Parts: sequence; structure tokens; C-alpha cells
Amino acid sequence: MRDVSLWRGLLGVEKTVIERVEFDEEDQVLLVHVRPTSRARNRCGICGRRGPGYDAGQGRRRWRALDLGTVQAWIESDASRVTCREHGVVVAAVPWARHDVGHTRAFDETVAWLATQGSKSTVTQLMRVAWRTVGSIIARVWADVEATHDRFAGVRRIGIDEISYKRNHKYLMVVVDHDTRRLIWAAPGRNSATVGEFFDLLGEERCKLITHVSADGADFIDSIVAQRCPGAVRVADPFHVVKWATEALDEVRRGAWNDARAQARTEASAWQAPDRCATKAGKRTSQRFEGGPVLPV
Ligand SMILES: [Zn+2]
Repeated sequence: MRDVSLWRGLLGVEKTVIERVEFDEEDQVLLVHVRPTSRARNRCGICGRRGPGYDAGQGRRRWRALDLGTVQAWIESDASRVTCREHGVVVAAVPWARHDVGHTRAFDETVAWLATQGSKSTVTQLMRVAWRTVGSIIARVWADVEATHDRFAGVRRIGIDEISYKRNHKYLMVVVDHDTRRLIWAAPGRNSATVGEFFDLLGEERCKLITHVSADGADFIDSIVAQRCPGAVRVADPFHVVKWATEALDEVRRGAWNDARAQARTEASAWQAPDRCATKAGKRTSQRFEGGPVLPV
């Protein structure tokens, strides 16, 4: 039936039989009654293996689907339980949602993608969910991505740095892949043990393949990198090179400014009466250094 295909497409569901669509006047939402197709039925919610039906569970259940225009849409179905030879009695898998969650896969994927593109308030307002829900959705979508993708594949040149949050009270160590320009790992902490966690995850064989590591020059990073990736070239990252150069330049500028000010005082005192012109000349010199160029950091 064309209507069925249309509803499947609108809701972003597969292997699903659309039984009935109604508008719930009380909740002001669109309610789509569905059931899994016969092949998708009676499968363990954890491993997906087929098993004998156990009971009807807690009866009908609802899952939030993507909004249709301005109207919220919900999928409603039985949530029966099956017996799995590995996992025992569990709620049966449903093809439109991950196990034991209240949103459809299409909803999850949309929220996870939005979280990478927009601000926190954009995601929560547009999708009409709490920020905590966004966190849970990101975690489960990412778990699926991790199961099928190897984010450390082909990693050769990495950058290690730390970022602070909570007003410099807490730190995260982050690792980026310079070739793909992607963040590949992050964890709370700011010491060699934290960086060691990354290398543990990477594994000994892959550590040997790392050719370059950029960092901010912190000793604890340098020593753990030397220990775990002995073949890698350790380099200072451009951000810190520019920062150090700017700080060095500031120091030189301050010295020159102090010299010029001292010179202005000497010139003034060399005259019996304070000479305003000499003082002004010294001031002009010092002011040139004060307003000198500042490199971006
Ligand atoms: Zn199972």
C-alpha cells in the first residue's frame, strides 16, 4: 500500500507494519500504531537472536518519533518479552528503536547529528528534549558507531593538549589526528597517567606506527610520549610557538620601554631645570614600545 510506504518514510522506520494512524486529541500528538514485521518479531532486545515468546511484558509502549511538521509524532506498539538462551527473559527487539530506549533510531540520529552542528539550546529547543536526553542519545549513537568504525585506523600524526573547564578547576586531555583533523580521544585529567590511557587504548603495535606527536611542551606529555612512542618525532604545536614568541617579544618590549623611560629621566635631570622637550622625547620613545605590534595568540 502506498500509504504504508509513505508513513514508513515519514517516520524513518523499516521492517515495520503500520497498523493505524490517529491524532490524539488529548495529548495533541500524532499516534502511529505499529508492529514489527514477522521476520523482525520475537528477537532478543540485546543480541537480536530469535527466541520463543515469553509474555506480553508491560503492555503497550510509546516511542518518540521525529516531529511531522509542527506536530509531535509517537509510535505505539506492544512490548512483549522473549526468552533468549543467552540473556534470559528480555523485552523483544523492535526494528524502529534501540533496545530499552524511548526514541526511534531516526530521532536518535537526528539529535546526535544536530549536537555536532548546533548549540545546546538549539538542539533542546528544536527537538523538544532535555539536555540530559541529548547526552544519553549521543552516548548510544556513538556506541553503535564505535562498534562498526575504527577511529584509530591509520593514525600516524597526532596532537596532544589539555583544555580546562569550570574556571580552570578541571581539565580534559584531548588527542587529535592531524591528518584527518578530527578529535579522536578525550578524557578527564591532566597528567601522564591520563595520556597513558590513550596509548593503552591505541595498543603497542599502533603506538609504534606513530610518526609525529605535537604537544605544548609539558614535561609529563613529553616523557610519556618518549616512553610509549619511541620512534615518534616530538614537536611543539604552532599555537604554543606563537604564544611563546609573543611572550618573549613582550618581555623585550617591556625592557626597551623601561630603558626609554630611564633615559627620559636621565635626560631631564641632566638639565639643571627640567627640560620638557627632552622628557617628551623620552616619553615618545617609550610610547612607541608600549603600542608596538602584538602577535596573535
Ligand atoms: Zn540475547
